[in-house]
Amino acid sequence: MRTPACAQLHIWLASPEPAAPPPTLVAHVANCAYCRGELILPLVRLFGGRLPVDDPLPCERCQQHLAAFIDLERAAGSTRAAAAFPHVWLHHRTCAECAELYQLVCAVVTATVSPGALTADPPL
Ligand SMILES: [Zn+2]
Ligand SMILES: [Zn+2]
Repeated sequence: MRTPACAQLHIWLASPEPAAPPPTLVAHVANCAYCRGELILPLVRLFGGRLPVDDPLPCERCQQHLAAFIDLERAAGSTRAAAAFPHVWLHHRTCAECAELYQLVCAVVTATVSPGALTADPPL
């Protein structure tokens, strides 16, 4: 059922280049079937049905691709990164542990890497 926290998800989804979700939101989504459904809708719009939702992603696989996802996100924007790694995009928004890792990696990358130094190799 819908709660005030569900409204927060809508606000967050409405931003054109969503930043990492606040941990409270991630924790909510992890336990809210309604919000997990809401997260599917933007994926449908982005990927036209090529959805990884039938194949729930283990954290291990998300974390394997997280660095590449972040590289591409920094190089080409969130939308491109989400299109290339839809499973990572969805997972790190629904898993508190991986969202935390994502924020940590982003912080480290921002602090230590200058633009252009990433080994960006977009799979396109
Ligand atoms: Zn909710
Ligand atoms: Zn995870």
